Amino acid sequence: MSTENLNVFEQVQVQIKEACDLLGLDNSYYEILKTPQRAMEVSIPVRMDDGSVKTFSGYRSQHNTANGPAKGGIRFHQDVTFDEVKTLSMWMTFKCAVIGLPYGGGKGGITVDPTKLSMGEKERLARGFVRKLGDFIGPEIDIPAPDVNTNPQIMAWMVDEYNAMRGYNNPGVITGKPVLIGGSLGRTEATGRGVVITTREACAALKIDLKGAKVAVHGYGNVGSFAGLYLHEMGSKVVAAFDLGGGAYHPDGMDATVLQDYVTKHRTVAGFPGSKTITADELFALDVDILVLAALENTITMENQHLVKAKVVAEGANGPVTTEAGKKMFERGIAILPDILANAGGVTVSYFEWVQNLQNYYWPLDEVNAKLERNMVNAFANVWKMANDKRVDMRTAAYLVGIRRVADAMKLYGWV
Ligand code: GLU
Repeated sequence: MSTENLNVFEQVQVQIKEACDLLGLDNSYYEILKTPQRAMEVSIPVRMDDGSVKTFSGYRSQHNTANGPAKGGIRFHQDVTFDEVKTLSMWMTFKCAVIGLPYGGGKGGITVDPTKLSMGEKERLARGFVRKLGDFIGPEIDIPAPDVNTNPQIMAWMVDEYNAMRGYNNPGVITGKPVLIGGSLGRTEATGRGVVITTREACAALKIDLKGAKVAVHGYGNVGSFAGLYLHEMGSKVVAAFDLGGGAYHPDGMDATVLQDYVTKHRTVAGFPGSKTITADELFALDVDILVLAALENTITMENQHLVKAKVVAEGANGPVTTEAGKKMFERGIAILPDILANAGGVTVSYFEWVQNLQNYYWPLDEVNAKLERNMVNAFANVWKMANDKRVDMRTAAYLVGIRRVADAMKLYGWV
């Protein structure tokens, strides 16, 4: 059956069903996992700078809490839908389980183009969302974090609003906060760092030398730029980068440290001195060793998967390769590091942040990074072993590892 024309929500259901069947779980597990435990849709009226009131739609979904409170980011994007948020919350359940974090899966989003809002409007929107979420979130219930187009400042406003509702400080309600108010050192760069740790492990397993390896990065935001930077530091060559503003290509590799400064200043990689322009399709078709996909869902589909020549594809974003395109690429010998493994560094350091908040004791950066390294290396080893034992691709293997953990917890609780 082709899953290509299914929406992302239906696609993830197919993935879950396949994994449940491969694990030999009876249908009751799938019956529970196929849909979120609870999900909420709210309307958020915001006073705009011109005095008018505009209402935005917001969503929060808690997929499964067998392993702990729901955990996952909040995104601001014009294409956010309730189905997308539900799907993303399902991926979070399995992502947390693959890493072995004591969390279930959650996700939130607001349908808004944040580039059209002033700072003040953004702040009122963020606060309005938290007021509407009320008792739906909390350090023991559901812990939001940054995601696409949200950042530590937005998290700070959200925590402040939550604190005002409760009447006391609750740093553990949201992670990805600025360090000064309870954020963890290393959180901002954690997702990119995790992408590179798993990529390094995959390259070692596949006998690909990272030194001199050619890298292309699609989506040069928070995740993509740190992935590019760390790969550059490990001796790889970042030959191409692409973001909403356009692309930059240099066959000998670009200095990712200089590139990051350029992006901070110009808000795009396009026009990076010495580089040529490149389109997204041209970037996918480059003869590189590593392709990092760090933009949004459905970047690589059955339409364009044939372009990809990379040996390793790391999913820095959530769902950048469709299930079917991924299977086709696996048949072509391409190793895809699936999102629920490759980009789990962010939620892992979110977990460290939450632990630090709950115990009010803060760790130095080297401790955070050492713990992240250990978690990611272990998770990769588990997924790699599962892939070899069951002779499946790494995405299927990651689902098997993740669903097994959730299924075991559900069984112990007597849900099934
Ligand atoms: N938004 C990130 C993700 O998709 C991080 C979530 C978190 O830190 O809770 O994994």
